[in-house]
Amino acid sequence: MALLALVRPVLLAAAVVALAIGIVAVLPPQNPSPAPAPAPAPPVAARPIVLPAPETSPPVTPNDFRGFQGFQANPAPSPPALPSEPEPPASDRYDLTLRLEKGDTIDKILADIDVGEADRKQIDRALQAILKKRRIAPGEEIRLEIQTPSGPSDMPTVLSLSVRPQPEREFIVNRQDDGSYSGEEKTYRVSPRIVRVQGERSGSLEQSGVAAGAPSAAMTEFIRALSYDVDFQRELKVGMKFTVLLEQLVTSDGKVTHPGRLLAGELALGKRTVTVIRFRPNGGADQFYNARGESVVRSFLRTPMDASKVTSRFGMREHPILGYSAMHAGVDFGAPSGTPILAAGAGKVTMAGYNGGYGLFVKLEHTREIGTGYGHMSRLGPGIKPGVSVRQGQVIGFVGSTGMSTGPHLHYEFYRGGRQVNPLAQKFAMQASVGGKDLASFKAVAGQYLAQLKNAPKVAVGKPDPQAAAVGD
Ligand SMILES: [Zn+2]
Repeated sequence: MALLALVRPVLLAAAVVALAIGIVAVLPPQNPSPAPAPAPAPPVAARPIVLPAPETSPPVTPNDFRGFQGFQANPAPSPPALPSEPEPPASDRYDLTLRLEKGDTIDKILADIDVGEADRKQIDRALQAILKKRRIAPGEEIRLEIQTPSGPSDMPTVLSLSVRPQPEREFIVNRQDDGSYSGEEKTYRVSPRIVRVQGERSGSLEQSGVAAGAPSAAMTEFIRALSYDVDFQRELKVGMKFTVLLEQLVTSDGKVTHPGRLLAGELALGKRTVTVIRFRPNGGADQFYNARGESVVRSFLRTPMDASKVTSRFGMREHPILGYSAMHAGVDFGAPSGTPILAAGAGKVTMAGYNGGYGLFVKLEHTREIGTGYGHMSRLGPGIKPGVSVRQGQVIGFVGSTGMSTGPHLHYEFYRGGRQVNPLAQKFAMQASVGGKDLASFKAVAGQYLAQLKNAPKVAVGKPDPQAAAVGD
């Protein structure tokens, strides 16, 4: 309140201009997911805040795993050593992998390595015949087996060319004995495999999970499921252990096509262990439940991020920049710049842009009575602009240090009837539990997952990547 009041006269004009420019300047060009129509706001309950049933997180897409190379648990066996000869002849065959760059064609790639025109045409024709109308996207790897020229003027011969745009599908062109080329499409069966990843917290929980071998998307989902219940600041300490159970998809030749969907997870906090279990009730969507079958979902996230610590609480304090005592009308969460900030509840964006001392700021309206505000962002989340609806847990921006701030952190405010209240003091209602006919199947699933959290095959553990955090404002 005071922060805003003090800076308002000085910054109002600048803020208005900056807001207008800021909205235009910081918005990403595309709007990836069409936002659902805003749900009607229900009457506000007596004390615990209840929102319309939150929607499930956006589905995990292959884009979430772009660049993922698989877990490399089983390195490809090296070819058996050939019996040693006194002077082994230099091999006249070799493998070459080339990336198709933007504007490239297979013909151009082959011409670049001096493959003769007649061969290039044949290879291209054979490949088009099996690709049909499909196009090979830039960035795709083209694997070649080449025979070196036998004389100084001869051109290299392509023995085989293959491209695998999807893990379950490979297109291969082979040279025949008569020097012609023919194409072949190979498909691989894809089947699920259940694995577990174990780690301990060092840096953020998400980083710790990725370092231990879990995909980032699964860790994000785990953190979201935990965040209704776990106070990450007070409860989650360095060294605390977690296990996530993942369902990977693996092809019949051992390639991981999906690095793992979160089935269940367990986080050991000092005094208690929090368990989350994925379950789809009859006619509903996937949700996470605790071991008793109670939904983990509450109307608001306890903290709007996987933050490392609260660096400044709600109330009167000495202002670090202004230098005198003033009301701190929110809570500060210290976290590295770029840490995703999540919508605490489902709602509508009413403000997204520069706002004086708040820097880059997002305000959400959840009901007519309840709102939340997020300050000092480095940038906005994809598609975040005034008027759009957001799901609970959707990324609305990223931690930064814009506005009146001494270092990267999130300034988080909670409004009731337009007034700031202490976000950490609010009580939020729990959503429904598994019931009726679903209960028996939930118990079976939960029993299976709880056992697999202990005994499913483990993914190879990487090295934890500790990362420093936290500055105040
Ligand atoms: Zn603050």
